[in-house]
Amino acid sequence: MPEARFWRENQARYNMIGHKCGKCQKVYFPPRDMCPKCRRASMGKMEKIQLTGKGSVVSHTTVHEGLPEFQMQIPYTMAIIELEEGARITGQIVDCNGECVKIGSEVETVFRKLGEEGKSGIIHYGYKFKLIE
Ligand SMILES: [Zn+2]
Repeated sequence: MPEARFWRENQARYNMIGHKCGKCQKVYFPPRDMCPKCRRASMGKMEKIQLTGKGSVVSHTTVHEGLPEFQMQIPYTMAIIELEEGARITGQIVDCNGECVKIGSEVETVFRKLGEEGKSGIIHYGYKFKLIE
């Protein structure tokens, strides 16, 4: 992936910036340059939208196999979140072994370290979700 695009997408991820289709009002995150629903008709009409990072759980699954490079505690919970603005994204629910989350649980975005590349020392950060008490 070219450097510039990488940084642009990273910026959008950090700041929770999505794109809203000017025609059908559908919100996309990560942002898209074109609405797949409206196709050509909406080209150039995608607007930037600041997402709140809040949403609710649509579905969730508990994962019992860890990825060593991420040093995740297992079991951990992955969920599909429907954001307030309507976009759906997948993310991990932090500090949850699978029993604390239900469909409809309210969550918000948190930023956590996802992993570190050994020799290069590049640290990856990304969004995860935590339950709103
Ligand atoms: Zn559209």
